[in-house]
Amino acid sequence: MEFYPVAIEKLMEEFAKLPGIGNKTAQRLTLYVLNLPKDEVDEFASALVRARGTIKYCSVCGNFTDKDPCAICSNPNRDKSTICVVEEPKDVIAIEKVREYNGTYHVLHGTISPMAGRGPDDIKLRELVSRINGNVKEVIVATNPNVEGEATAMYISKILKPLGTKVTRIAHGIPVGGDLEYADEVTLSKALEGRKEI
Ligand SMILES: [Zn+2]
Repeated sequence: MEFYPVAIEKLMEEFAKLPGIGNKTAQRLTLYVLNLPKDEVDEFASALVRARGTIKYCSVCGNFTDKDPCAICSNPNRDKSTICVVEEPKDVIAIEKVREYNGTYHVLHGTISPMAGRGPDDIKLRELVSRINGNVKEVIVATNPNVEGEATAMYISKILKPLGTKVTRIAHGIPVGGDLEYADEVTLSKALEGRKEI
């Protein structure tokens, strides 16, 4: 049974693929778009294409960037002797908002999860190891405080310690099972401050 023309069905389908968007919301967004002036829709569509086309991963830290290396990696004022390891680019933004951390980052793009069949080779761990040299004094593991985040932290400690690197874990100001992204700035700041060697 066809309720809508194909083009509308297709747009609803695409909206429904987005995280947190159910069929009802997809339908609402589609009808909203159809009522927009055409030039606004063109602008929206080209913003999508432009962002996807120009944004890449920094070859050093793995964060999103439009130039390589990214603004943080190429900033001479950032402390290159400290690397903060996070799961996703959004975690970099969360920590940057605190404005207290002046080191660099490493984005893993995931966690180790035996349950989900994700091993060390499925995230950017090899890239992290390749960054370790005599100039790196500390690696702060800021993965999320859940089972996968902890497993990942332990694994990182296990592979970096033999290289003589100090590995620390952010403190548990962040509720267990919580998400870095949703921690408020004071909590995140305290978590960074209270980090412990692992
Ligand atoms: Zn970078």
